Amino acid sequence: MRRSAAPSQILGNAGKKPRFIPPGKCLSVCLKNETKEMDQEIKLKEVDEKEGGASLLSKINVQNQNENITHSVESTGKVKTKACFSIDKRIKAEMKTLNVPKADALYLPTSGTAKEEAAQEAPDCLVKYFSVVWCKASKKKHKKWEGDAILITKGKSVILKDMEGKDIGRGTGYKAKELDSLDEGQTLMVGGKEIEVMGVISADDFSSGRCFQAGIGPHDTDATALSQTNTKPFCKPLKNVCQASTKENMLKDSQSCKPRHDPNTSNSLVMPRPNASHQWMFNKAGLPVVDVVVDPYIANNLRPHQKEGIIFLYECVMGMRVSGRFGAILADEMGLGKTLQCIALVWTLLRQGPYGCKPLLKRALVVTPGSLVKNWKKEFQKWLGSERIKVFTVDQDHKVEEFIGSPLYSVMIISYEMLLRSLDQIQSVEFNLLICDEGHRLKNSTIKTTTALTSLSCERRIILTGTPIQNDLQEFYALIEFVNPGILGSLSTYRKIYEEPIVRSREPSAAEEEKELGEKRAAELTRLTGLFILRRTQEVINKFLPPKKESIIFCRPTALQLELYRKLLSSRVITSCLQGRLENSPHLICIGALKKLCNHPCLLFKAIKEKSCDPVSEEYDESSLYEGVIDVFPQDYTSDTFSETDSGKLQVLVKLLAAIHELNSSERVVLVSNYTQTLNVLQDVCKHYGYSYTRLDGQTPVSQRQHIVDTFNGKFSPAFIFLLSSKAGGVGLNLVGASHLILYDIDWNPATDIQAMARVWRDGQKHAVHIYRLLTTGSIEEKIYQRQISKQDLSGAVVDLSKTSEHTHFSIEELKNLFTLHEDSSCVTHDLLECDCMGKIDHQNTSSEKPPISRSCQIEQNHGKPNSKKPLSMSQLMQWKHFSVQHQTLADPFLERIKENVSFIFQNVTTPTSPPNKT
Ligand SMILES: [Zn+2]
Repeated sequence: MRRSAAPSQILGNAGKKPRFIPPGKCLSVCLKNETKEMDQEIKLKEVDEKEGGASLLSKINVQNQNENITHSVESTGKVKTKACFSIDKRIKAEMKTLNVPKADALYLPTSGTAKEEAAQEAPDCLVKYFSVVWCKASKKKHKKWEGDAILITKGKSVILKDMEGKDIGRGTGYKAKELDSLDEGQTLMVGGKEIEVMGVISADDFSSGRCFQAGIGPHDTDATALSQTNTKPFCKPLKNVCQASTKENMLKDSQSCKPRHDPNTSNSLVMPRPNASHQWMFNKAGLPVVDVVVDPYIANNLRPHQKEGIIFLYECVMGMRVSGRFGAILADEMGLGKTLQCIALVWTLLRQGPYGCKPLLKRALVVTPGSLVKNWKKEFQKWLGSERIKVFTVDQDHKVEEFIGSPLYSVMIISYEMLLRSLDQIQSVEFNLLICDEGHRLKNSTIKTTTALTSLSCERRIILTGTPIQNDLQEFYALIEFVNPGILGSLSTYRKIYEEPIVRSREPSAAEEEKELGEKRAAELTRLTGLFILRRTQEVINKFLPPKKESIIFCRPTALQLELYRKLLSSRVITSCLQGRLENSPHLICIGALKKLCNHPCLLFKAIKEKSCDPVSEEYDESSLYEGVIDVFPQDYTSDTFSETDSGKLQVLVKLLAAIHELNSSERVVLVSNYTQTLNVLQDVCKHYGYSYTRLDGQTPVSQRQHIVDTFNGKFSPAFIFLLSSKAGGVGLNLVGASHLILYDIDWNPATDIQAMARVWRDGQKHAVHIYRLLTTGSIEEKIYQRQISKQDLSGAVVDLSKTSEHTHFSIEELKNLFTLHEDSSCVTHDLLECDCMGKIDHQNTSSEKPPISRSCQIEQNHGKPNSKKPLSMSQLMQWKHFSVQHQTLADPFLERIKENVSFIFQNVTTPTSPPNKT
């Protein structure tokens, strides 16, 4: 039988018709017809096949729970029949529409026989996988193949799956011998389809999902092999810059062609040379190949991980890592210099290219949040000086037209908002490289920004993001689809091959095989995307950083705080919350009031006063929460003249600031709160004690932020204290001018606090860093902290740190815990650890207990390695040094000063492994 028009050959090089196609290599996705119900059936059936029915019941239960299948499960047999029956129905329906001759019905199982066959099959009979092509059954001699597919044989039955992983045919009642000897070139009827075997697929290629993957080689990530096996039609990435030269030009080129910078100096950063197949594809004119060398002016300032990153980006945008793809995602954690790596890449490619010295880029576009536009320009100047490159920033006074009209500029920096406004003009400019900073915002493919950016014809696309992008597999797909469109197939394929099995395998109730399949698919997805996604954590530079000492300080509440706290807890609102009356979320108001009280009673006082001045308010719950509370305050209390002795935390803070000011007067402090009102209180404290300060919160205009930050970080900063609202800090805010950071209150989202800490302990920090977190002992703040650290312990929970809304939902049990005040404990968190030290000695748990497995990432199981950007887990906290403060002399001079108001301290010192390097 002749293969005439199999899609793999239409798309591939029809000339070299391979007899044997290595699994997965040349297959392409072609069919798109599916329904939701079918997916469910496939799942049922797959489970059925693998397990021989043994623990089928439990698995179907799992699926019922998770996917709302309405099958009533009474016995294993019944479900099987049902599943098989519906599949038959589908195939029959398909037959009808296809007008398949009746004779072919012979190949179709009836519901009865399918069940019997399945039951008869030996449980250990061998499953085999084949890559095949298929067409509708016909008597014609010349087959018109309609698609690639995967054939799975087991015992006497077969399943045919299209390249999206969807069932397109099933059959049973074959001779076992016939299936057993199935081999390349042989044909078989499956349902109404005829198939021809193209090759054998390994079980591994099937379970990893690799066999469904078009476009990327299965095993080798080696760029050479990839480009050589490329079957995609040539596409023109270099067309615009690298035009074929005339003979004369070529001669001239080859004479004058030498690397722009010396590749042989000791510190030179030389990009990898393109291999033969890359040259064959992108150097048609046969120009001389020259080394691309990063300008030593910038290369001399690069850390090792940054050099690696630049090579990675270079290979991606050159199409050297994945043939025919030019996108990359650089997902390094904050503080690793993503901007610098991009600047080095842009500068290199604006001046150089591997073929005939021709620069690869003419123009590059950087899209970034509005608050960072100026920062990008500043970084360009910082690393390259203003004489090497002129970058154009688009703002009110500098329109896109100016950039178009001027030959001076080759880099344009624009905010996402401005991009949307001037999209028409930007579309008319030809950019050869597109960099999307904070690009996780493109995680939704339907938003305007994504559509706008996709409309730019530029193929070389880089997404920069510091947010872990693997937490949500749908968002993950959207980001990948943006940088390398089509590389994971259609969305429905992706869901079936990767997302569904992976998500299912992470569910606590997943069966062993589901776990195994999910893990394999996850591993394959990681391998595949790892070709163009690079993520490093801060660990890579921690060794260059000075030590970091973190202290969690449990501050005793004052008598007034305790009395107010008890009053609030006894209110009718909280009582009714605990009885489950949660309409209009009154618990959130209660939580808010308690948090204010912990920061300072005057904040609660102010809230009560405002409420009473506003009688028309409909907030019944809030007024009733405050009922009688005002009587607890002293008669002459006013919110304007607050006293620091009314708040446990503020007492500690005042002493701590005094200690730092006295002992370490040259060093500065960042003081963080989540609340503007609290910042006002803290600001008053600064005024009262004569500490110079500067402030950045939500009201600070974007245009002034950079200046405030620069001034503070400068050598001669007049400010001793930087008052920072953690919510308004924005991304990428660098406050290395300070070496002490105090978190005055706590956020539900651990990411907020972690981000705040990273502003100080980051690249460029020269002093040992001290971080203090203040918590009111026994109060709601401890509970929030416990929730932060126990989050990681929740089994099976996928935690997305970027989501903040989850704290609005609490069970009654959780609320009871939140609304309990522990007056006699010196540290409830320590009590919870069930540590037996009694807080009496400097205690450091050295047990070998391993930290739990982190679940924050959906595609990679992170095996609990401590990471400065991840919230601590309970068991990690246990390993911190901790002690109750009574009757002890503390080695820490700062803490010694404050211990009077402190009940307990957890402390940990991170010491870098190697001495600080350079600058
Ligand atoms: Zn202990």
